[in-house]
Amino acid sequence: MEALTLYHQIFLQYLNQTRNVVNEKCSRVEPWQLIASTIAATLLIVKMYTFLFQPESLTSRLKKWFFRIIRKLPIIGQIIQQQIYKAMDDMSSQLSFLQYKKNYITSLPAKGLSQPELLKKLKEYSTLGNVQWEDGKVSGAVYSGEEKLVNLFVKVYEEFAWSNPLHPDVFPGVRKMEAEVVRMACTLFHGGPNSCGTMTSGGTESILMACKAYRDLAYEKGIKYPEMLVPESAHAAFDKAAHYFRIKIVHIPLTESMQVDVKAMKKAISKNTAMMVCSAPQFPHGSIDPIEEVAELALKYDIPFHVDACLGGFLIVFMEKAGFPLEQAFDFRVKGVTSISADTHKYGYAPKGSSVIMYSDVKYRHHQFFVAPDWQGGVYASPTIAGSRPGCLIASCWATMVYLGEEGYVEATRKIISTTRFIVSELRKIDHIVIMGKPEVSVIALKSDTFDIYRLSNLLISRGWNFNILQFPRGIHFCLTLVHTKPGVAELLLKDIRECLSEIMKNPNEKTTGMAAIYGMAQAIPDRNLISEIAGSYLDNLYNTDPHPLAEAHMNDSPGSH
Ligand SMILES: *Cc1c(COP(=O)(O)O)cnc(C)c1O
Repeated sequence: MEALTLYHQIFLQYLNQTRNVVNEKCSRVEPWQLIASTIAATLLIVKMYTFLFQPESLTSRLKKWFFRIIRKLPIIGQIIQQQIYKAMDDMSSQLSFLQYKKNYITSLPAKGLSQPELLKKLKEYSTLGNVQWEDGKVSGAVYSGEEKLVNLFVKVYEEFAWSNPLHPDVFPGVRKMEAEVVRMACTLFHGGPNSCGTMTSGGTESILMACKAYRDLAYEKGIKYPEMLVPESAHAAFDKAAHYFRIKIVHIPLTESMQVDVKAMKKAISKNTAMMVCSAPQFPHGSIDPIEEVAELALKYDIPFHVDACLGGFLIVFMEKAGFPLEQAFDFRVKGVTSISADTHKYGYAPKGSSVIMYSDVKYRHHQFFVAPDWQGGVYASPTIAGSRPGCLIASCWATMVYLGEEGYVEATRKIISTTRFIVSELRKIDHIVIMGKPEVSVIALKSDTFDIYRLSNLLISRGWNFNILQFPRGIHFCLTLVHTKPGVAELLLKDIRECLSEIMKNPNEKTTGMAAIYGMAQAIPDRNLISEIAGSYLDNLYNTDPHPLAEAHMNDSPGSH
């Protein structure tokens, strides 16, 4: 008791002294100075805070700032600019589809074409280029290609060409079809009675919608700066969502098996975590992330958990029945999984422009919706990004699912998985190439420890094959679809890989050329903004109707004139 009063007295004395010192110091300062400096200090602190805490990390922003300065330097800046132009030029000269230089239609024909003329033109456009996906040499891209389905789509289009689910009163049939597609998908993924969802225009929109829903849920919980934890292998659509919706994206590294590192995921969880993501399977290497383990984290920390099954969703749900059971559960049966995206326009075999986003509970879907209650045009409520939507795509998707039925999907899955497993087992016998990750579904990714794997891609291109190029780490992949299950395709692929490899091994250290070399170089450039700029010019080129690709025009400019 005595000791306490003693401390109390010492404290009071100390307080008194401090006050005297401060007052003494301030006695020569005028009151307005005090007020002004207080305001300035407060503003400075707020400014510092907003500078330090932003969706984009401080290091990333400092790096960009540094490279911006470098590019403004007199000589170095000009050299870099020249190199960019050169890269753009190299790129457009490598890409044969940008070489088309004739006969662009640039304004409406004064008088419309007759139907026979038009059909001739259509044929001309549909046969432009020299890549024939029908031979089964292109990775992914076309998932079915069956004539029977094409005939079906034509009939569906005839019935539903003008339909639009924005007007369910006018087109009640399309409304019913969308509801049925979502319900069939929920049933396939073992959703409970509260499971629900919407159709979207594709995988990207499904992912955007889940991210938007969880961001708004996070806002509701009082999280000001929502973050998402996303495996490095997850689709770029998550980066797009982060960019569009101002969510901070934290990329979680993978383990040796190309599955997300659950320990790293756990470490990254913070009070700002708005959602976690796994893929089933992921696009680059075809591995399935450890969904059950991440779901445990999701439950423990009460974080929404999205499973991206855009690519393989309509394979994995049929794998058990097709005779290829997976090692782990991946759907709503795993407690903690709150949403799943699955593309009907991939292994659902519907035409491009449809996907499904599903939630375990209606409360999540509500955060996806957008309502403008005060619009002069009426109360405007819309489930996804688009306003008007093509009813014929919903109808085609519905028709494909009902036409193929479970039997059709199981049979297709059996064909695709058995072909993939056959190719994998044969590739494992070949020296100098290594299969990345665990190819449990339909993607096979290759790397090499003895030569630059991009050279293999190059040689395969010269034989008509079209692999996807992977980076960080370097690799190439092939995604099998029904097109590749035709007799002889797998054997031809293996034969061509073996022959290309023996050609490469004659000279294992030779330099990579062509587009693959540009890709290889791009990975080594520290300033990622340069890559974005070059890629942007590629996109510009896609819309070019001038006989000259854009980069060529740049090449004639004098440096520094921009
Ligand atoms: C294809 C894909 C997507 C996005 O699909 P789009 O339909 O191209 O928008 C998302 N995730 C994975 C794993 C994919 O393979």
